[in-house]
Amino acid sequence: MDEDILSNLGLGVDGAEPDQEDTQPQDTIDIDNTERKRKIEQLEWMECPICLDTPRSGPIYSCRKGHIICKECQPKVTQCPTCRDKHIDCRSIIAEKLLESTLKDTPVSCKYRSSGCNSEDLVINLESHEISCMFRSVRCPAFHRGACSWLGPLNKLIQHVILKKCAQVVKAKPPYSYFVSTIGDFAQDQTVFSKNTATHWKPVMLISQEALKYFCYAIFYRDAQGYWFAYVRSISPPSTMNTLRVEIRIKKSGSNEDCDTYVYNGRVSSSDASEQEIRDSGNYLMMRDGQVKKFMMEKTIMEYNITLKQIEDTTQPLN
Ligand SMILES: [Zn+2]
Ligand SMILES: [Zn+2]
Ligand SMILES: [Zn+2]
Ligand SMILES: [Zn+2]
Repeated sequence: MDEDILSNLGLGVDGAEPDQEDTQPQDTIDIDNTERKRKIEQLEWMECPICLDTPRSGPIYSCRKGHIICKECQPKVTQCPTCRDKHIDCRSIIAEKLLESTLKDTPVSCKYRSSGCNSEDLVINLESHEISCMFRSVRCPAFHRGACSWLGPLNKLIQHVILKKCAQVVKAKPPYSYFVSTIGDFAQDQTVFSKNTATHWKPVMLISQEALKYFCYAIFYRDAQGYWFAYVRSISPPSTMNTLRVEIRIKKSGSNEDCDTYVYNGRVSSSDASEQEIRDSGNYLMMRDGQVKKFMMEKTIMEYNITLKQIEDTTQPLN
C-alpha cells in the first residue's frame, strides 16, 4: 500500500507511529470546527420562516409537509407560510430533539442582532440577556393613548420620542432622580373639567442618569367621568421593575404649602400592562375633579414632583 495513504489513515510504516503530541491538537480543532459548522447549519434548518429565528425551545410545530413554525409564531398564523397548508398543528418531534441536543453546546446570536446587538451565547445564558437587551423591540410610550404605533429598538426610543414629539421629556434635578413639571389645560376658553370624553396628556419621559436604565415615563389621564389617574410605567424587565419605587406628589404650582397635596408612594407598572391591569393593580394616584380644581393656577392645572428610586429586590429567593 502507498505510504501516503497509510499515513493519512493514521498508520505509520515500519512501526513509526504518527506523533500523537503534534497531530492530536490540530485534529481536535478541525473536528471541533466541522462539528460547530454542522451544528450551526442544523440550527439554520430549524429557523422559523416567520420570525426568522431559531426557536429557543420546543414545542416546534409543522404543517403536514414538515415545514416548521416556532411556538411563538404558530398561534399568529392560519396557514403554513411555505406551502399554505391549513394544518399547522403537527408537532415536529425530531426537530425538537435535534434542537435540544444542538442548543446545549452551540452558541447562537441574540435575537435582536438585526437591530445591532452583537451578543452571542448559549441559549441558556442568552434568554436573560434578551429580556434586558438594549436593542430589544419596544413600543413608543404614546402607543397607549393611540397616538403612535412606533415599534423599534430600545436604544432608539429616546431619539424617537424627541424627534416625533411623542412624549414630553423631563430631566431630573440631580443628584437624585427627582423630577418637577406641570400639566396644563387646553388653550382658549375650553377647560378639561368640562369634557365628557377621556383626556390623555403626553407621556412624560423621566430622564436622568439613573432613570435612563429603567426607561420610566409618567402617565396623566382624566376619564370621561372626571376621575384623574397618575402613574409611572417602565420599560425594564420584570426583575428590575419589582425593585423600582416611585413617589408622585401633586400640589399647587409654585406652592410649598403642605396642605392640598396628594401623594402616591408605590410601585411602577410595566409598559406592557393594559389600562385594566393597572386599574386592578392599584399602582396609581387617583383624584376627582373637585380635588384637582384646588390646584389650578390660570392655565396650569397642577404641579407634580416625581421621585424614582431603586430598592433591593426582596422577591429573590434566599440562597
Ligand atoms: Zn417564529
Ligand atoms: Zn408547509
Ligand atoms: Zn442583545
Ligand atoms: Zn412615538
